[in-house]
Amino acid sequence: MEDIKSLLPDELKSFMVSLGQPSYRGSQVFSWLHKHLVYSFDDMTNLPLGLRKRLGETAFITSLNILSRTEGRKGTVKYLMETYDKNAVEAVRMEYKYGITACLSTQVGCKMACSFCASGQSGFIRNLTTSEIVDQALKIQKDVSRFSSDIGNIVLMGTGEPLDNYEASVKALRLFNAKEGLGISFRRMAVSTCGLVPGIRRLAEEGIPVTLSISLHAATDDLRDKLMPINRRYPIPELLDAAAFYRERTGRRVTFEYTVIQDVNDSPACARQLAKLLQGQMAHVNLIPFNPIDEREFVRPTIHRMNTFQKILEEASIPTTVRRDLGLDVHAACGQLRPRYCR
Ligand code: SF4
Repeated sequence: MEDIKSLLPDELKSFMVSLGQPSYRGSQVFSWLHKHLVYSFDDMTNLPLGLRKRLGETAFITSLNILSRTEGRKGTVKYLMETYDKNAVEAVRMEYKYGITACLSTQVGCKMACSFCASGQSGFIRNLTTSEIVDQALKIQKDVSRFSSDIGNIVLMGTGEPLDNYEASVKALRLFNAKEGLGISFRRMAVSTCGLVPGIRRLAEEGIPVTLSISLHAATDDLRDKLMPINRRYPIPELLDAAAFYRERTGRRVTFEYTVIQDVNDSPACARQLAKLLQGQMAHVNLIPFNPIDEREFVRPTIHRMNTFQKILEEASIPTTVRRDLGLDVHAACGQLRPRYCR
C-alpha cells in the first residue's frame, strides 16, 4: 500500500500514471490531501468513482488521532496525537504577531539524551514517517481553518532530533513548500538540531534555505559534554565550523538556542564565554528560560539573571532575543506532555 501523503507532487503524478491515469490527477489528489485536508478518497469529488475505489485498494491516507488539545495563554495550543501503532506525539500551535507557527515532532522519543529534556529521559521508540510529520501540521491547519487562519511557519522543534530522521524530515519540509499544498516558503521554516554535524553539512547542500537553529546551551565543551552527550562526538569547534558552512551555502544566519538553567549555565562568566565564542559568527542567540520538568532538579533562572545574561551578549554586539514564554502553562518544552499522558 502506498503512503500517499508522503508523496511529493511529482511522485504523486508518477503514481497516478502507474495506475493508468493522466498525471494531472496527481495534482488533484495532492490538493485534496494537503490543501483541502480531506481524509477519504471518497471525498475527492473531482475524481472518477472508479479511481477513488482503486486508490482505496492501493494507497492509504495517514491520519493522526487527536488525543488531547491543551490550551495555554496567548493562543498556544498543545496537541497530543496518536499514531496508528498507539504511540503519542506532540505538536504545538503558537500564535505570534506575524502568524501561526506549527511546532512539530519528528521522532517518537529521542536518542540524544540531553540532560535537561523530558524527551531525552523516556528514550527512543521510532522515527516518524514523512506523512506522520506532515499530518501533525495538517491537523493543526484543520483546527485553525475554523477561524479562517493559516499556518505561516513550520518549525521542527518538537520531540526528536530532525537530522537523526533526515530523509523524512526534509521531505516533510518539501511537502509543506509545495504550491499545491500549504505553499509555505522555506524561509519560514526552521530545523532545530542538537548538533549532528554531518546532518548540518548535508542540509546545507539541500537547496532549501530553511533557518538552522542549533541547540548550544553551553559555551565550553566541558559543560556541553555534561548537558548534551552528542557533544562528545561533535564538539563545539566542529559544530561552529558546520554552522559557518551552513551560513556560506544558504546565506542564512544561524540561530543558537541557549536554554538558561539556574546555577548551571546562567552566570555572567558563562555569558562572556558565549559572547567570545560567537564573536564574528553572524549568529543570533535565542535565550530560553528553562521550563521545569519533573524528572530533573534543574531550576528556572530569575528574571534578573536572564536580563544580565542578555545584556552581556548585547554589549558584545551579539543579537539576542529572549523566547517569549508561550509554553510554560501547557508544558511545551519538548517531550513534556507525552510523559504526563503516559503515566
Ligand atoms: S533536547 Fe532535543 S535532541 Fe536533546 S533529547 Fe530533547 S528532543 Fe532530543
